[in-house]
Amino acid sequence: MYESTRGNLSNQSAAQAITLGMVPSGGLFVPSNFPILNWQDLRGLTYRDVAKRVMMPYLPDFTEAVLSEIADVYADGTFDGPNPAPLVSVGSFGVLELWHGPTAAFKDMALQLLPDLLNVSLKQLDVDTEVLILVATSGDTGKAALEGFKNRKGMHIVVFYPEGGVSPVQERQMTTTEGVNTYVVAVKGNFDQCQTAVKRIFASDALKAELREKKLIFSSANSINWGRLLPQIVYYFWAYLQAVEQGKVTPGGKMNVVVPTGNFGNLLAAYYAKRMGLPIDCIISASNKNNVLADFFATGAYQSQRDFFQTISPSMDILISSNFERFLYEMSGRDAKKIQAWYDSSNQGTFTVDPVTLKQCQDTVYAGWADEEETLETISRSFQTYQYVFDPHTAVGMKVYQDYLSATNDQTFTVIASTASPFKFATNVLKGLEGEKQKNWKDEWEALDHLSQLTGWKIPSGLQGLENKLAKTVESCEPEGISRLLQKMFL
Ligand SMILES: *Cc1c(COP(=O)(O)O)cnc(C)c1O
Repeated sequence: MYESTRGNLSNQSAAQAITLGMVPSGGLFVPSNFPILNWQDLRGLTYRDVAKRVMMPYLPDFTEAVLSEIADVYADGTFDGPNPAPLVSVGSFGVLELWHGPTAAFKDMALQLLPDLLNVSLKQLDVDTEVLILVATSGDTGKAALEGFKNRKGMHIVVFYPEGGVSPVQERQMTTTEGVNTYVVAVKGNFDQCQTAVKRIFASDALKAELREKKLIFSSANSINWGRLLPQIVYYFWAYLQAVEQGKVTPGGKMNVVVPTGNFGNLLAAYYAKRMGLPIDCIISASNKNNVLADFFATGAYQSQRDFFQTISPSMDILISSNFERFLYEMSGRDAKKIQAWYDSSNQGTFTVDPVTLKQCQDTVYAGWADEEETLETISRSFQTYQYVFDPHTAVGMKVYQDYLSATNDQTFTVIASTASPFKFATNVLKGLEGEKQKNWKDEWEALDHLSQLTGWKIPSGLQGLENKLAKTVESCEPEGISRLLQKMFL
């Protein structure tokens, strides 16, 4: 069963948690306990079968046949090559490449499954309605969600992104999505304003009632939805299995993971894998210049009221890290009263946790951050040293890993979760690789070609030919105008 982090709802089934997305009166669904899984039992299985085994205990209301069908997406050619998440050896550490899906970012790992998880959940609950998926995106979620949901029967999806706050490739990827049920809206504001506005829509009883009359219900494809987090646990098991297979870790030995962090979903999945018994030692959280999390781990004070920076790692430009609430729930010893108090709206995203909870957080996660210059330098140095090209998000992880090594000298085998293909952020990657020598590209597409020539790496198929695709018109609105826009579109 799934319980609310704020203790404001009775326990719900997996199907209910996935359909609702979040607790209607605020709060997030968390599993009431963590099933233990022996990684040894997964040895020799394909990714698809590992996925099935990891997800099954969390979805008691799904049959094995249904889950098999859902996990097929990892083996049916949707992901490039036979391994959807290869662990690549770079120097003395490993890079878990999570960007071999259709949109070249790690979000595909979960968003290719979410529509099916939702569909089965709806059938189970026997609700005779269509679903309206609302997504706030800092760039990568939007496209991955559009790809996952496009042309799905009974489902409509609207993606909201901060105008001017995503990379040209990300924007182009979103606006060229096919599908009769996909919509893209540019919101005048930053990602946090965009996300807050969408959360407000989810909480609007009036709008929900109007939609219900049209046989429509809301759901969320953001990582607050349990159906997003669950498939992400899988690849940490997969990373460990590969590390053992490659002789990097002795069977049963520990592995560290580094996670470039924004909304804290990816990191939380690593923590959940650890709770399930996977031998993970240190979990390293890497933030960019929007270092609200690194500050929290240093001081115990969560301070989202601060300057917002637009960085070269836009998918981590987040001050209100949604899934952090789930983490604090565990760290506080599942104290819903404390969560309720910290996340009370009157605090406006600012609170300080008690010393015991802080100590628990610090014992579980090492947190650091990298500024823009450090990130560019890391892209350049890593290429010189290892001939490996990091995208700016993963480079933030790499930099924080180096800081961690200097601080601890920990020799434990470490896996860096690589969250995007460098081609998704080609201009900025080239800025790192070529520095002052960089010329002005005619457009982003020329930069992609140049990056490919310079590194010998292939442009992912999902990013090829984007410049020639037909783009749909994008509605633009103020954060306060979202509700009106949805009424215009669907009522
Ligand atoms: C979404 C995203 C992140 C942040 O992941 P969270 O799960 O939100 O912490 C990091 N890097 C890239 C490339 C992303 O798309």
